[in-house]
Amino acid sequence: MSGGYDVDLFVDGPDYELLCTICRCVLRCPVRVACNHVFCKTCILQWLRRQETCPCCRKPINPSCMFVMYKLSKSISRLRIKCINEGCLATFPLSDEFLHSSSCPFQRVLCPHQGCGSLVLRSALEVHSQHCQHWSQICPMGCGTQLTQATQPQHNCYRQLRQQVEAQRQSHRAIAGALSRKMRRMQTAMTHVRRQVALICESLEATGEGQEGEEGEVEGDVYEGFEEETTGESSTSSSSSSS
Ligand SMILES: [Zn+2]
Ligand SMILES: [Zn+2]
Ligand SMILES: [Zn+2]
Ligand SMILES: [Zn+2]
Ligand SMILES: [Zn+2]
Repeated sequence: MSGGYDVDLFVDGPDYELLCTICRCVLRCPVRVACNHVFCKTCILQWLRRQETCPCCRKPINPSCMFVMYKLSKSISRLRIKCINEGCLATFPLSDEFLHSSSCPFQRVLCPHQGCGSLVLRSALEVHSQHCQHWSQICPMGCGTQLTQATQPQHNCYRQLRQQVEAQRQSHRAIAGALSRKMRRMQTAMTHVRRQVALICESLEATGEGQEGEEGEVEGDVYEGFEEETTGESSTSSSSSSS
């Protein structure tokens, strides 16, 4: 039974008074009983289940009269310990034990891929992951595909995306080209139409002016002529010309 911290864990051999007489380890959560002897909390609680006397001096112990020694606990937590992982030379305060083990490269961790179950050095996890047969991951590009060791090499969202974008760009370019060709054709047609309209206007103006002028002259002439020449038929011709 080991309630305390293993003595071998510590960089410097801890003082004798920091050891628990029950487990012979460095005190973990030390508590003081009425006779002033100090033990790990779990050690003394287990001891008291068998007999209610102090393991050091045999004096009776009242289980409801024990004091947690916070100050002592704090000074123990400042003692430097060694990392228990093989190959790791790091030392750190006892209080940083969890912090270190959660980042120690020599710590063996469970491969996170479902169904693998391998214990791998944290520093080798990345390499393991690359070859793990249970590797599986949602595509990081966000397409939603569940990639596996088998499908991942063929899957390349970025490449697909680039191809799509390129195709789209080409089709846009084609559309833009066609549109600008159409525009040019329309502009040419417009220019043509405008020129035609201008010509028509010109010719209309020309004929209009000519007609007006001639009409005036001709009207008089013809009218007079008609009147002079055909007096009998003047009723029909005069009515047609006036209308
Ligand atoms: Zn103990
Ligand atoms: Zn005692
Ligand atoms: Zn370590
Ligand atoms: Zn694995
Ligand atoms: Zn993808």
